[in-house]
Amino acid sequence: MSISKKRLHVITWGCQMNVYDSARMADVLAPLGYAPADAPADADMVILNTCHIRDRATEKVFSELGRLRVVKAERAAIGQNTILAVAGCVAQAEGAEILARAPYVDIVLGPQTYHRLPEMVAQASRAAGAVIDTDFPVESKFDFLPDDAAAQTAGGLTAFLTIQEGCDKFCSFCVVPYTRGAEASRPAAAVIAEARRMVAGGAREITLLGQNVNAWHGVDAQGAPSTLGRLLRELAAIPGLARLRYTTSHPRDMDDDLLAAHADVPAVMPFLHLPVQSGSDRMLASMNRKHTAADYLDIVARLRKARPDIALSSDFIVGHPGETEADFEATLVLIRAVGFAQAFSFKYSPRPGTPAAGAPMQVPEAEKDRRLQALQALLRDQQAAFNAACVGRTLPVLITGPGRYPGQIAGRSPYLQPVHLDGPLSLVGREIPVRIAAAHTNSLAGEPFMDRVAA
Ligand code: SF4
Repeated sequence: MSISKKRLHVITWGCQMNVYDSARMADVLAPLGYAPADAPADADMVILNTCHIRDRATEKVFSELGRLRVVKAERAAIGQNTILAVAGCVAQAEGAEILARAPYVDIVLGPQTYHRLPEMVAQASRAAGAVIDTDFPVESKFDFLPDDAAAQTAGGLTAFLTIQEGCDKFCSFCVVPYTRGAEASRPAAAVIAEARRMVAGGAREITLLGQNVNAWHGVDAQGAPSTLGRLLRELAAIPGLARLRYTTSHPRDMDDDLLAAHADVPAVMPFLHLPVQSGSDRMLASMNRKHTAADYLDIVARLRKARPDIALSSDFIVGHPGETEADFEATLVLIRAVGFAQAFSFKYSPRPGTPAAGAPMQVPEAEKDRRLQALQALLRDQQAAFNAACVGRTLPVLITGPGRYPGQIAGRSPYLQPVHLDGPLSLVGREIPVRIAAAHTNSLAGEPFMDRVAA
Protein backbone atom coordinates (compact mmCIF):
# COMPACT_ATOMS: atom_id res chain seq x y z
CA MET A 1 0.00 0.00 0.00
CA SER A 2 1.43 3.40 -0.89
CA ILE A 3 0.92 6.26 1.53
CA SER A 4 0.60 9.72 0.03
CA LYS A 5 3.06 12.28 1.36
CA LYS A 6 1.59 14.87 3.66
CA ARG A 7 3.15 17.62 5.70
CA LEU A 8 2.90 18.30 9.42
CA HIS A 9 3.78 21.50 11.26
CA VAL A 10 3.87 21.45 15.07
CA ILE A 11 3.92 24.66 17.12
CA THR A 12 5.17 23.90 20.62
CA TRP A 13 4.76 26.14 23.67
CA GLY A 14 5.94 25.42 27.16
CA CYS A 15 8.25 22.99 28.86
CA GLN A 16 10.55 20.20 27.68
CA MET A 17 7.72 17.72 28.26
CA ASN A 18 5.76 19.51 25.56
CA VAL A 19 8.79 19.47 23.24
CA TYR A 20 9.02 15.73 23.82
CA ASP A 21 5.28 15.23 23.34
CA SER A 22 5.41 17.16 20.06
CA ALA A 23 8.12 14.84 18.81
CA ARG A 24 6.04 11.83 19.86
CA MET A 25 2.96 13.14 18.06
CA ALA A 26 5.10 13.52 14.93
CA ASP A 27 6.25 9.92 15.48
CA VAL A 28 2.76 8.45 15.71
CA LEU A 29 1.72 10.37 12.57
CA ALA A 30 4.77 9.33 10.50
CA PRO A 31 3.20 5.99 9.51
CA LEU A 32 0.28 7.97 8.03
CA GLY A 33 2.77 9.67 5.69
CA TYR A 34 3.25 12.94 7.58
CA ALA A 35 6.69 14.53 7.14
CA PRO A 36 7.75 17.82 8.77
CA ALA A 37 6.77 21.16 7.20
CA ASP A 38 8.63 24.35 8.03
CA ALA A 39 5.57 26.60 8.13
CA PRO A 40 1.80 26.26 8.65
CA ALA A 41 1.18 27.46 5.08
CA ASP A 42 2.97 24.34 3.77
CA ALA A 43 1.25 21.91 6.13
CA ASP A 44 -1.68 19.55 5.63
CA MET A 45 -1.91 19.35 9.40
CA VAL A 46 -0.97 21.87 12.07
CA ILE A 47 -0.77 20.93 15.74
CA LEU A 48 -0.71 23.66 18.35
CA ASN A 49 0.78 22.01 21.44
CA THR A 50 -0.13 24.34 24.27
CA CYS A 51 1.00 25.17 27.80
CA HIS A 52 -1.25 26.37 30.60
CA ILE A 53 1.46 27.51 32.97
CA ARG A 54 2.12 30.98 31.64
CA ASP A 55 -0.01 34.07 32.00
CA ARG A 56 -3.09 34.41 29.77
CA ALA A 57 -2.38 31.04 28.19
CA THR A 58 -5.89 30.50 26.89
CA GLU A 59 -6.10 33.91 25.21
CA LYS A 60 -2.75 33.30 23.54
CA VAL A 61 -4.09 30.04 22.14
CA PHE A 62 -7.13 31.74 20.65
CA SER A 63 -5.08 34.51 19.09
CA GLU A 64 -2.72 31.94 17.51
CA LEU A 65 -5.77 30.01 16.30
CA GLY A 66 -7.02 33.21 14.68
CA ARG A 67 -3.80 33.35 12.62
CA LEU A 68 -4.06 29.67 11.72
CA ARG A 69 -7.67 30.16 10.64
CA VAL A 70 -6.42 32.62 7.97
CA VAL A 71 -3.81 30.09 6.78
CA LYS A 72 -6.45 27.36 6.64
CA ALA A 73 -8.78 29.59 4.60
CA GLU A 74 -5.98 30.57 2.18
CA ARG A 75 -5.08 26.93 1.61
CA ALA A 76 -8.76 26.00 1.18
CA ALA A 77 -9.02 28.69 -1.53
CA ILE A 78 -6.44 26.77 -3.59
CA GLY A 79 -8.07 23.41 -2.91
CA GLN A 80 -5.84 22.26 -0.04
CA ASN A 81 -7.28 20.87 3.17
CA THR A 82 -5.67 21.65 6.54
CA ILE A 83 -6.36 19.66 9.68
CA LEU A 84 -6.01 21.91 12.71
CA ALA A 85 -5.39 20.24 16.09
CA VAL A 86 -5.02 21.74 19.56
CA ALA A 87 -3.10 19.60 22.04
CA GLY A 88 -1.52 20.00 25.47
CA CYS A 89 -2.67 21.47 28.74
CA VAL A 90 -4.92 24.22 27.38
CA ALA A 91 -6.71 21.60 25.27
CA GLN A 92 -7.16 19.51 28.40
CA ALA A 93 -8.44 22.43 30.46
CA GLU A 94 -10.69 24.06 27.87
CA GLY A 95 -11.91 20.99 25.93
CA ALA A 96 -15.18 21.71 24.12
CA GLU A 97 -14.82 25.44 24.77
CA ILE A 98 -12.12 25.49 22.09
CA LEU A 99 -14.52 24.08 19.50
CA ALA A 100 -17.22 26.50 20.61
CA ARG A 101 -14.97 29.54 20.18
CA ALA A 102 -12.95 28.24 17.22
CA PRO A 103 -15.24 25.91 15.23
CA TYR A 104 -12.65 25.65 12.43
CA VAL A 105 -10.49 23.49 14.76
CA ASP A 106 -10.69 19.81 13.76
CA ILE A 107 -9.16 18.00 16.73
CA VAL A 108 -8.80 18.77 20.44
CA LEU A 109 -6.72 16.26 22.36
CA GLY A 110 -5.41 16.09 25.90
CA PRO A 111 -1.88 15.03 26.86
CA GLN A 112 -3.03 11.52 27.76
CA THR A 113 -4.46 10.65 24.35
CA TYR A 114 -1.63 11.30 21.88
CA HIS A 115 -1.45 7.64 20.96
CA ARG A 116 -5.01 7.94 19.58
CA LEU A 117 -4.01 10.75 17.23
CA PRO A 118 -3.89 8.63 14.01
CA GLU A 119 -7.48 7.50 14.66
CA MET A 120 -8.58 11.09 15.29
CA VAL A 121 -6.85 12.27 12.10
CA ALA A 122 -8.63 9.53 10.15
CA GLN A 123 -11.96 10.66 11.61
CA ALA A 124 -11.27 14.32 10.87
CA SER A 125 -10.15 13.44 7.32
CA ARG A 126 -13.43 11.63 6.73
CA ALA A 127 -15.07 15.01 7.42
CA ALA A 128 -17.01 13.42 10.24
CA GLY A 129 -16.89 16.66 12.17
CA ALA A 130 -14.52 17.83 14.86
CA VAL A 131 -12.98 15.24 17.19
CA ILE A 132 -12.42 15.82 20.87
CA ASP A 133 -10.57 13.49 23.21
CA THR A 134 -9.46 14.78 26.57
CA ASP A 135 -10.15 11.64 28.64
CA PHE A 136 -7.77 10.34 31.22
CA PRO A 137 -7.84 6.73 29.97
CA VAL A 138 -7.20 3.90 32.38
CA GLU A 139 -4.39 2.65 30.17
CA SER A 140 -1.31 4.82 30.01
CA LYS A 141 -0.35 6.53 26.79
CA PHE A 142 3.12 5.13 27.55
CA ASP A 143 1.76 1.71 26.55
CA PHE A 144 0.83 2.84 23.07
CA LEU A 145 3.86 4.66 21.76
CA PRO A 146 5.60 3.06 18.78
CA ASP A 147 8.69 1.00 19.62
CA ASP A 148 10.90 2.78 17.15
CA ALA A 149 9.79 6.24 18.29
CA ALA A 150 12.98 6.88 20.15
CA ALA A 151 15.10 6.41 17.09
CA GLN A 152 13.12 9.20 15.49
CA THR A 153 12.88 11.48 18.49
CA ALA A 154 16.45 11.09 19.72
CA GLY A 155 18.01 12.65 16.65
CA GLY A 156 20.97 14.02 18.57
CA LEU A 157 23.61 13.68 21.20
CA THR A 158 21.30 15.01 23.87
CA ALA A 159 17.89 13.37 24.19
CA PHE A 160 14.81 13.69 26.37
CA LEU A 161 12.94 10.70 27.73
CA THR A 162 9.61 11.01 29.52
CA ILE A 163 9.43 8.57 32.42
CA GLN A 164 6.60 10.04 34.46
CA GLU A 165 3.53 12.18 33.92
CA GLY A 166 1.07 14.01 36.09
CA CYS A 167 1.20 15.07 39.69
CA ASP A 168 -0.64 14.41 42.96
CA LYS A 169 0.83 17.33 44.89
CA PHE A 170 -1.83 19.96 44.16
CA CYS A 171 0.20 23.10 44.78
CA SER A 172 -2.26 25.96 45.19
CA PHE A 173 -1.14 27.82 42.06
CA CYS A 174 -0.66 24.96 39.59
CA VAL A 175 -2.90 23.44 36.94
CA VAL A 176 -0.81 20.34 36.27
CA PRO A 177 -2.79 17.94 38.51
CA TYR A 178 -5.96 19.04 36.70
CA THR A 179 -4.58 19.00 33.14
CA ARG A 180 -2.10 16.12 33.29
CA GLY A 181 -3.91 13.98 35.82
CA ALA A 182 -2.63 11.78 38.61
CA GLU A 183 1.00 10.75 38.88
CA ALA A 184 1.83 7.85 36.53
CA SER A 185 5.20 6.18 36.07
CA ARG A 186 6.41 4.51 32.91
CA PRO A 187 7.62 0.94 33.57
CA ALA A 188 11.36 0.63 34.16
CA ALA A 189 11.83 -1.96 31.41
CA ALA A 190 10.25 0.37 28.83
CA VAL A 191 12.37 3.31 30.02
CA ILE A 192 15.57 1.27 29.82
CA ALA A 193 14.67 -0.14 26.40
CA GLU A 194 13.99 3.33 25.06
CA ALA A 195 17.20 4.70 26.56
CA ARG A 196 19.13 1.87 24.86
CA ARG A 197 17.57 2.78 21.53
CA MET A 198 18.40 6.44 22.08
CA VAL A 199 22.03 5.58 22.81
CA ALA A 200 22.16 3.28 19.79
CA GLY A 201 20.83 6.25 17.80
CA GLY A 202 23.71 8.42 19.00
CA ALA A 203 22.55 9.96 22.28
CA ARG A 204 25.29 10.50 24.86
CA GLU A 205 23.26 12.51 27.33
CA ILE A 206 19.70 11.69 28.37
CA THR A 207 17.44 13.93 30.43
CA LEU A 208 14.62 12.05 32.14
CA LEU A 209 11.43 14.08 32.13
CA GLY A 210 8.36 14.22 34.30
CA GLN A 211 6.20 16.91 35.90
CA ASN A 212 7.19 15.34 39.19
CA VAL A 213 10.03 13.18 37.89
CA ASN A 214 11.48 12.11 41.22
CA ALA A 215 8.10 10.63 42.19
CA TRP A 216 8.89 7.96 39.58
CA HIS A 217 8.49 4.43 40.94
CA GLY A 218 8.46 0.98 39.43
CA VAL A 219 10.15 -2.39 39.70
CA ASP A 220 13.71 -3.23 38.76
CA ALA A 221 14.98 -6.12 36.61
CA GLN A 222 14.73 -8.47 39.64
CA GLY A 223 11.13 -7.48 40.32
CA ALA A 224 12.01 -5.45 43.43
CA PRO A 225 10.46 -2.04 44.07
CA SER A 226 12.48 0.66 42.38
CA THR A 227 12.88 4.41 42.72
CA LEU A 228 14.44 7.07 40.53
CA GLY A 229 17.81 6.59 42.25
CA ARG A 230 17.84 2.91 41.26
CA LEU A 231 16.60 3.64 37.77
CA LEU A 232 19.49 6.09 37.32
CA ARG A 233 21.92 3.33 38.31
CA GLU A 234 20.41 0.95 35.77
CA LEU A 235 20.52 3.57 33.04
CA ALA A 236 24.10 4.54 33.87
CA ALA A 237 25.13 0.95 33.06
CA ILE A 238 24.15 1.38 29.39
CA PRO A 239 27.42 1.38 27.44
CA GLY A 240 27.99 4.67 25.61
CA LEU A 241 25.68 6.73 27.81
CA ALA A 242 27.88 9.42 29.38
CA ARG A 243 25.45 11.73 31.13
CA LEU A 244 22.13 11.59 32.93
CA ARG A 245 19.89 14.39 34.15
CA TYR A 246 16.32 14.52 35.42
CA THR A 247 13.75 17.27 35.72
CA THR A 248 11.48 18.55 37.31
CA SER A 249 11.78 17.41 40.91
CA HIS A 250 9.82 18.07 44.08
CA PRO A 251 11.74 18.44 47.38
CA ARG A 252 9.43 15.92 49.07
CA ASP A 253 10.58 13.16 46.72
CA MET A 254 14.34 13.65 47.16
CA ASP A 255 14.81 10.31 48.92
CA ASP A 256 17.99 8.62 50.18
CA ASP A 257 18.32 6.46 47.04
CA LEU A 258 18.37 9.54 44.86
CA LEU A 259 20.85 11.39 47.06
CA ALA A 260 23.07 8.31 47.01
CA ALA A 261 22.91 8.22 43.20
CA HIS A 262 24.30 11.75 43.16
CA ALA A 263 27.14 10.57 45.35
CA ASP A 264 28.22 7.48 43.49
CA VAL A 265 26.89 7.45 39.92
CA PRO A 266 29.34 9.58 37.93
CA ALA A 267 26.96 9.83 34.95
CA VAL A 268 24.44 11.73 37.09
CA MET A 269 25.39 15.32 36.37
CA PRO A 270 26.17 17.65 39.29
CA PHE A 271 23.35 20.01 38.45
CA LEU A 272 19.81 19.86 39.78
CA HIS A 273 16.71 21.92 39.15
CA LEU A 274 14.83 21.75 42.44
CA PRO A 275 11.94 24.23 42.72
CA VAL A 276 11.35 25.76 46.14
CA GLN A 277 8.96 28.61 45.14
CA SER A 278 9.30 30.56 48.41
CA GLY A 279 11.52 30.84 51.47
CA SER A 280 8.62 31.60 53.83
CA ASP A 281 7.08 28.67 55.72
CA ARG A 282 3.80 30.59 55.90
CA MET A 283 3.75 30.90 52.10
CA LEU A 284 4.95 27.32 51.56
CA ALA A 285 2.03 26.10 53.69
CA SER A 286 -0.41 28.32 51.85
CA MET A 287 1.00 27.05 48.54
CA ASN A 288 0.43 23.47 49.79
CA ARG A 289 4.06 22.66 49.02
CA LYS A 290 4.35 20.05 51.78
CA HIS A 291 7.85 21.14 52.79
CA THR A 292 9.40 23.97 54.79
CA ALA A 293 12.34 26.23 54.03
CA ALA A 294 14.41 24.22 56.55
CA ASP A 295 13.49 20.98 54.73
CA TYR A 296 14.77 22.49 51.51
CA LEU A 297 18.01 23.72 53.08
CA ASP A 298 18.53 20.29 54.60
CA ILE A 299 18.16 18.62 51.18
CA VAL A 300 20.63 21.11 49.69
CA ALA A 301 23.11 20.34 52.47
CA ARG A 302 22.73 16.59 51.90
CA LEU A 303 23.10 17.00 48.15
CA ARG A 304 26.27 19.01 48.66
CA LYS A 305 27.59 16.37 51.02
CA ALA A 306 26.83 13.70 48.42
CA ARG A 307 28.28 15.69 45.56
CA PRO A 308 30.28 18.75 46.72
CA ASP A 309 30.44 20.30 43.24
CA ILE A 310 26.67 20.17 42.67
CA ALA A 311 25.06 23.36 41.34
CA LEU A 312 21.42 24.20 41.91
CA SER A 313 18.63 25.80 39.99
CA SER A 314 15.13 26.60 41.22
CA ASP A 315 11.74 28.17 40.53
CA PHE A 316 10.35 31.08 42.52
CA ILE A 317 6.92 32.67 42.64
CA VAL A 318 6.61 36.16 44.10
CA GLY A 319 3.33 37.72 45.13
CA HIS A 320 1.38 34.54 45.91
CA PRO A 321 -1.88 35.64 47.66
CA GLY A 322 -1.13 36.79 51.20
CA GLU A 323 2.63 37.23 50.67
CA THR A 324 3.87 39.99 53.00
CA GLU A 325 7.13 41.90 52.84
CA ALA A 326 8.46 39.61 55.60
CA ASP A 327 7.54 36.52 53.55
CA PHE A 328 9.32 37.97 50.56
CA GLU A 329 12.38 38.78 52.67
CA ALA A 330 12.44 35.14 53.81
CA THR A 331 12.72 34.10 50.16
CA LEU A 332 15.72 36.41 49.69
CA VAL A 333 17.29 34.91 52.82
CA LEU A 334 16.86 31.39 51.42
CA ILE A 335 18.36 32.42 48.07
CA ARG A 336 21.40 33.91 49.83
CA ALA A 337 21.76 30.78 51.94
CA VAL A 338 21.75 28.43 48.93
CA GLY A 339 23.49 30.39 46.18
CA PHE A 340 21.88 29.34 42.89
CA ALA A 341 23.67 28.78 39.60
CA GLN A 342 20.49 29.53 37.69
CA ALA A 343 16.81 30.11 38.41
CA PHE A 344 13.40 30.86 36.97
CA SER A 345 11.19 33.38 38.69
CA PHE A 346 7.66 34.53 38.04
CA LYS A 347 5.03 36.84 39.39
CA TYR A 348 2.07 34.94 40.73
CA SER A 349 -0.82 35.00 38.26
CA PRO A 350 -4.12 33.23 38.95
CA ARG A 351 -4.88 30.05 37.02
CA PRO A 352 -8.63 29.44 36.71
CA GLY A 353 -9.75 26.46 38.75
CA THR A 354 -6.76 26.46 41.12
CA PRO A 355 -7.28 27.16 44.84
CA ALA A 356 -5.08 30.27 44.93
CA ALA A 357 -6.98 31.93 42.10
CA GLY A 358 -9.92 32.81 44.34
CA ALA A 359 -7.89 33.39 47.51
CA PRO A 360 -8.25 36.71 49.36
CA MET A 361 -5.34 39.10 49.81
CA GLN A 362 -4.12 39.15 46.22
CA VAL A 363 -0.88 41.17 46.08
CA PRO A 364 -1.09 44.38 44.00
CA GLU A 365 0.57 44.13 40.59
CA ALA A 366 3.02 46.99 41.24
CA GLU A 367 4.20 45.29 44.42
CA LYS A 368 4.68 42.00 42.59
CA ASP A 369 6.75 43.85 39.97
CA ARG A 370 8.96 45.41 42.62
CA ARG A 371 9.54 42.10 44.39
CA LEU A 372 10.25 40.27 41.16
CA GLN A 373 12.85 42.83 40.12
CA ALA A 374 14.61 42.64 43.50
CA LEU A 375 14.58 38.84 43.44
CA GLN A 376 15.82 38.62 39.86
CA ALA A 377 18.65 41.08 40.56
CA LEU A 378 19.87 38.81 43.35
CA LEU A 379 19.54 35.68 41.20
CA ARG A 380 21.35 37.37 38.31
CA ASP A 381 24.25 38.24 40.62
CA GLN A 382 24.41 34.65 41.81
CA GLN A 383 24.40 33.28 38.27
CA ALA A 384 27.16 35.73 37.25
CA ALA A 385 29.20 34.73 40.30
CA PHE A 386 28.75 31.04 39.52
CA ASN A 387 29.80 31.49 35.89
CA ALA A 388 32.77 33.67 36.90
CA ALA A 389 33.90 30.98 39.35
CA CYS A 390 34.16 28.55 36.43
CA VAL A 391 36.92 30.65 34.82
CA GLY A 392 40.27 28.93 35.25
CA ARG A 393 38.65 25.56 35.95
CA THR A 394 38.87 22.63 33.57
CA LEU A 395 35.39 21.23 32.96
CA PRO A 396 34.30 18.13 31.04
CA VAL A 397 32.37 19.45 28.05
CA LEU A 398 30.16 17.29 25.82
CA ILE A 399 30.72 18.65 22.32
CA THR A 400 27.38 18.76 20.54
CA GLY A 401 28.08 20.55 17.25
CA PRO A 402 29.65 23.47 15.43
CA GLY A 403 29.74 26.88 17.10
CA ARG A 404 28.50 30.11 15.63
CA TYR A 405 31.79 31.05 13.96
CA PRO A 406 34.07 29.16 11.55
CA GLY A 407 36.47 26.89 13.40
CA GLN A 408 34.35 27.04 16.54
CA ILE A 409 32.66 24.11 18.27
CA ALA A 410 29.99 24.18 20.98
CA GLY A 411 28.96 21.94 23.82
CA ARG A 412 27.63 21.97 27.33
CA SER A 413 29.23 21.81 30.72
CA PRO A 414 28.04 19.49 33.52
CA TYR A 415 26.13 22.53 34.82
CA LEU A 416 24.20 22.94 31.55
CA GLN A 417 26.13 26.06 30.55
CA PRO A 418 26.72 26.38 26.81
CA VAL A 419 30.49 26.37 26.13
CA HIS A 420 32.13 27.67 22.95
CA LEU A 421 35.71 27.09 21.91
CA ASP A 422 37.92 26.71 18.85
CA GLY A 423 38.40 23.08 17.91
CA PRO A 424 37.84 20.50 15.17
CA LEU A 425 34.40 19.13 14.35
CA SER A 426 35.82 15.63 14.81
CA LEU A 427 35.28 16.22 18.54
CA VAL A 428 31.49 16.25 18.20
CA GLY A 429 30.06 13.51 20.38
CA ARG A 430 33.03 13.40 22.72
CA GLU A 431 33.29 14.65 26.27
CA ILE A 432 36.57 16.55 26.48
CA PRO A 433 38.33 18.53 29.22
CA VAL A 434 38.07 22.25 28.49
CA ARG A 435 39.81 25.00 30.40
CA ILE A 436 37.37 27.88 30.82
CA ALA A 437 38.84 31.20 29.70
CA ALA A 438 35.92 33.59 30.11
CA ALA A 439 32.37 33.77 31.43
CA HIS A 440 29.44 35.53 29.79
CA THR A 441 25.92 36.03 31.12
CA ASN A 442 24.57 32.72 29.83
CA SER A 443 27.59 30.88 28.45
CA LEU A 444 31.28 30.15 28.86
CA ALA A 445 34.23 30.47 26.48
CA GLY A 446 36.81 27.71 26.52
CA GLU A 447 40.47 27.79 25.54
CA PRO A 448 41.14 26.29 22.07
CA PHE A 449 41.28 22.51 22.15
CA MET A 450 44.17 20.91 20.29
CA ASP A 451 42.92 17.48 19.39
CA ARG A 452 45.84 15.40 18.18
CA VAL A 453 44.14 12.04 18.48
CA ALA A 454 40.76 12.76 16.91
CA ALA A 455 40.15 10.95 13.66
S1 SF4 B 1 4.56 19.66 42.37
FE1 SF4 B 1 4.89 20.84 40.50
S2 SF4 B 1 3.51 19.93 38.98
FE2 SF4 B 1 2.81 19.22 40.99
S3 SF4 B 1 1.22 20.68 41.61
FE3 SF4 B 1 3.16 21.42 42.48
S4 SF4 B 1 4.00 22.86 40.97
FE4 SF4 B 1 2.39 21.63 39.93
